[in-house]
Amino acid sequence: MRRIYGPNQNLRNKEGVVCMAKHAVVIVGGGPTGMMLAAELALAKVDVAVVEQRPDHVLVGSRAGGFHSRTIEVLDQRGVADRFLAEGQVAQAAMIATTVLDMSDFPTRHPYSLGIWQNQIERIMAAWIAELPVRIYYGREVTGFAQDDTGVDVELSHGESLRAQYLVGCDGGRSVIRKAAGIEFPGWDPTKSNLIAEVEMTEEPPRGIRHDATGVHGLQRLEDGRTVRVVVTEQQLGPSSEPTLSDLSEALISVYGTDFGIHSPTWISRFTDMTRQAAAYRAGRVLLAGDSAHVHYPAGGQGLSLGVQDAVNLGWKLAQVVNGTSPESLLDTYQGERHPVAARALQHTMALGVLQRGDERIKALVDVVSELASMDEPRKRLAGIVSGLDIHYDLGEGHPLLGRRMPDLDLVTAHGSLRIFTLLHDAKPVLLNLGEPGGVDITPWSDRVQLIDAVYVGLWELPVLGAVTAPAAVLIRPDGYVAWVGDGTDEGLRDALTAWFGTP
Ligand SMILES: Cc1cc2nc3c(=O)[nH]c(=O)nc-3n(C[C@H](O)[C@H](O)[C@H](O)COP(=O)(O)OP(=O)(O)OC[C@H]3O[C@@H](n4cnc5c(N)ncnc54)[C@H](O)[C@@H]3O)c2cc1C
Repeated sequence: MRRIYGPNQNLRNKEGVVCMAKHAVVIVGGGPTGMMLAAELALAKVDVAVVEQRPDHVLVGSRAGGFHSRTIEVLDQRGVADRFLAEGQVAQAAMIATTVLDMSDFPTRHPYSLGIWQNQIERIMAAWIAELPVRIYYGREVTGFAQDDTGVDVELSHGESLRAQYLVGCDGGRSVIRKAAGIEFPGWDPTKSNLIAEVEMTEEPPRGIRHDATGVHGLQRLEDGRTVRVVVTEQQLGPSSEPTLSDLSEALISVYGTDFGIHSPTWISRFTDMTRQAAAYRAGRVLLAGDSAHVHYPAGGQGLSLGVQDAVNLGWKLAQVVNGTSPESLLDTYQGERHPVAARALQHTMALGVLQRGDERIKALVDVVSELASMDEPRKRLAGIVSGLDIHYDLGEGHPLLGRRMPDLDLVTAHGSLRIFTLLHDAKPVLLNLGEPGGVDITPWSDRVQLIDAVYVGLWELPVLGAVTAPAAVLIRPDGYVAWVGDGTDEGLRDALTAWFGTP
């Protein structure tokens, strides 16, 4: 179903004239955020295209090392988590200071993190969106855009262009879209930098992580047995230019006294603890998601998860606006909900970055934090943040489920037993009636909201919060967050349906 336009094909008609293809939504950047958003829009039957400057989906270098519980759940909601679980390794990998934030007692089907390299993640995602009606223009760089009242003209390299109703910049931390939209990117300048690389070595390197006063360093032999993944903190903040093999050699010698005979690099890159967040996630018909909206030090491994979850929050809302189901104001809830989540993650990663410094005073702080984090209540709180399982969108006062993720409960229905996440595979909202069958009427919205009469007999338990009272009904958004909780009456239901899924 997918049509891929390679770098050597261009947007020309049979006469060779460059033509302007139209799509409802154009996404700039086919990284994890852009691909997730493309999948969400395609599931909602929106004509979506991705423009990616790389010639294909192959990511050079392993980059991120995995993601956390809520992201696995989000993928499970779409029925694809198993594809990632099959290639990765589950572990209690969330940490603060020297303490592992064990989340194995959290009420979720996935109470762990998943170790899987970003190049594997992107390969799996690319295979998934290949099954969906998504157009991908590889080998093209977006250079700018111009928006008017009805849409956006997207300028591509080689003088080509696309027209879209909405444009989403998923184009990473150096986002051209964010800059062209004039969106401020306030935050904190970098104070330290790391080199990250995949190289070969003539000497056998010591394995594992090393801490010193400069920061954290790590050497890890990859699965091929030949390549070593190097992460080394530089003695001084490095320049913004691309690092070289001799920069890497110098950094290794300062830490280990030798560069282990590094040669044949396949990837050398530099990252810093620069921490910034876009002041606005939307400027008219242009939106930002993922690293284009927030950058931070990768400590804690939250960046990819934030981007994927931005996409899942934005996708169904943008689809409903494009399809005419909802007014444009629905898009304001995207920033309202996701900006505070990223702001908190940024704060958390800044704290983690400081705890990685190895001087004596920081070591004292590490000991204090580690001791606190080993206690039950702080452990749960911190694990809730890193895992993303405690995310709470402010949807007003009410039952604790309101604005929180819907747990993946085992239901019994007239058609047999099923998991709640199965109902979300098509990214359609669900009204779950757990009271008298037929006791809830949503006929005016029946074209867009699934009504399921079901029985659930188990405990209602939320991560971090613990047990909550059983609701009589819940309205679940396509992103898996609860938009309304019934207490046996339908008070507020029509308002919630209208607010989230438009007028009938
Ligand atoms: C060393 C390291 C370790 C990390 N570890 C973790 C981890 O364990 N867990 C985690 O969650 N996160 C981790 N991260 C962060 C994670 O890699 C990023 O947060 C994630 O890649 C963001 O995804 P994205 O799709 O928003 O942006 P990107 O992955 O940056 O994707 C942007 C895409 O846009 C394309 N693009 C850019 N500009 C243009 C243009 N003008 N035209 C067309 N295409 C364009 C790029 O080619 C790219 O494919 C780590 C990062 C680093 C550096």
